[in-house]
Amino acid sequence: MSAIAQRAIRLAERMSRLGTESAFEVLVRARALEAQGKEIIHLEIGEPDFSTPAHIVEAATRALHDGWTHYGPSAGLPELREAVAEYTAGYLGVPVDPDEVVVTPGGKPIMFFVILALVDEGDEVLYPNPGFPIYESMISFVGGRAVPYGLREDRDFDVDAEEIIDKITDRTRLVILNSPQNPTGGVMSRDGLEALADKLAGREIPVLSDEIYHRLIYEGEHSSLAQFPGMKDWTIILNGFSKTYAMTGWRMGWGVMRADLARQVAQLMTNSNSCTASFSQIAGIEALQGDQSSVGVMREEFRRRRSVIVEGLNRIPGFSCRQPRGAFYVFPNIRETKWNSHALADAILNEAGVACLGGTAFGQWGEGYLRFSFANSVENIERALERIESWASKKRI
Ligand code: PLP
Repeated sequence: MSAIAQRAIRLAERMSRLGTESAFEVLVRARALEAQGKEIIHLEIGEPDFSTPAHIVEAATRALHDGWTHYGPSAGLPELREAVAEYTAGYLGVPVDPDEVVVTPGGKPIMFFVILALVDEGDEVLYPNPGFPIYESMISFVGGRAVPYGLREDRDFDVDAEEIIDKITDRTRLVILNSPQNPTGGVMSRDGLEALADKLAGREIPVLSDEIYHRLIYEGEHSSLAQFPGMKDWTIILNGFSKTYAMTGWRMGWGVMRADLARQVAQLMTNSNSCTASFSQIAGIEALQGDQSSVGVMREEFRRRRSVIVEGLNRIPGFSCRQPRGAFYVFPNIRETKWNSHALADAILNEAGVACLGGTAFGQWGEGYLRFSFANSVENIERALERIESWASKKRI
């Protein structure tokens, strides 16, 4: 490397405020251990270990042969926007217009674009902690003030509407909700949402509602803030194909929001990605409108694994694990082990060969917890539990 290339490049100041998603970093470390010949069981990554259903893959292949290989409109193909509008209206029970839909490469860009479109420097955004780390990262990146609200084990990780309302100031420009939740597996109760809707009514504060796990619920039904009187105009729904149809690598998601904001988000698409891949969008129509049986099969398999992992973790001294009501994560409390989360996750990876995440990967209020994904086979989950149990007994935890 030349001397010039070795000198540090001067980065924009905002880059120092950009966070990350530790799951990807732990995956890299786990792969490095594998390269040294160690066998690692992966319970760190948040993606279904199922194949994308064949009828969706076939629709994409057909679309490629049919010439869906060119640019399309930035907001998404009209056919897919219509399908998303119909699908969303179907699960929410509220009318949705295709003009209110923007299709993006994954659900994640909706976070980025909505925060970019709504948050100025110094504006406050309320977000869940522990929560998906990209919320905090993006708020800080655009110069906003990230204001955490808690998701607590003693409330079964349900939202406390009072806490959110107490934290709203005249600088609050956005509230972020996520249900079912990553990393806790918690699901917001209808009563909790109703209380929040009552208190937000008339305040004209936009709410980003991340519903990416909406079909992975094991008890009860999914509820959304958009279903409450007066809230649809102020709710921006983030959703997508990644988790529901095991399509993480396709990069396909969407946002549903009032049409004036949708036009701005589409313009951000024009300025960044141009559009989402056209043949993927054609397959997306098949995903939403074709055979839905794969979703139920996957959910029932996750339900089976959930019992195995919760039971197994509760056998380990110092661990105490609630039954998650949604998504495919467990968030055991490990305070009695007296380890801190990050160190425990590291030791479990390096010494027991099981990759998981420390709770603080999801914000400072995740201390005292670990996150395991149960998107792996029952056999691998059982092997991972045995490894952790035997490691913990050698360490006299
Ligand atoms: N929202 C939450 C809560 C997630 O956990 C994830 C992915 O892990 C996403 C959004 C992003 O999903 P996508 O793959 O559609 O970008």
